Amino acid sequence: MNDLLQIREIYYGEFPEICGLNPRFKPKSKKVKVVVDINVPQIQKGNLDLSSAFGRLVRLLPSLERHQCGEHLLEDLGSGSKDFLSQHSDQITDIAHMMEHVIIDLQANITGMDSCSGITCGYKDPSSRFDLFVECRNKRVGVFSALLSIDLLRALLTKKILSGRFRALISLAKYLYANKSLLRLAQLEPAVARISSEFGWKRRFVLSLLGKLRDFGFIDLKHSWVA
Ligand SMILES: [Zn+2]
Repeated sequence: MNDLLQIREIYYGEFPEICGLNPRFKPKSKKVKVVVDINVPQIQKGNLDLSSAFGRLVRLLPSLERHQCGEHLLEDLGSGSKDFLSQHSDQITDIAHMMEHVIIDLQANITGMDSCSGITCGYKDPSSRFDLFVECRNKRVGVFSALLSIDLLRALLTKKILSGRFRALISLAKYLYANKSLLRLAQLEPAVARISSEFGWKRRFVLSLLGKLRDFGFIDLKHSWVA
């Protein structure tokens, strides 16, 4: 199921050609562009309950419910509207659109940014491919949020229970973003000790989370782990 959702490319820039597509985009704002494949044949449509997936997602990211969505996707998912299936027959597009909102929410969570807009554009061919554009002030956070959103949605769509690691990972990213001096420590061990005591986590757990943050480009453990 690993290629159910796949990121093909991630870019960072202004992308002036799409700015007119969402009036909320701020002039000259930088954006992260994510090219993603959502592979239709691998989705077991009968088992796919996007409303229930959204319910679990909101428990992790409650601020999702406060997003303004031009297409009312989140409202419809949240209310479990009866007409949901008829209104949203294209689940693939809904998943891509949900991913856009997850990237927005993760960035807002980590950096505290108060306003962030995005847009989801589908390809004609292949119809499983989408370009997501999301405003992004910090490239590292934007890329991290995109990579984490894929992991998160894959877990939501294929598993009943969302691992507690996601919450821990988001908390740690937020903490490190707010405590950048910790990232500038030449030694890893004192930082690990401080994170352990701050969150009450075991050293091994902290190291495994830091490994994930490194894999997703949030920190660099090789060169005195400076972000
Ligand atoms: Zn939306």
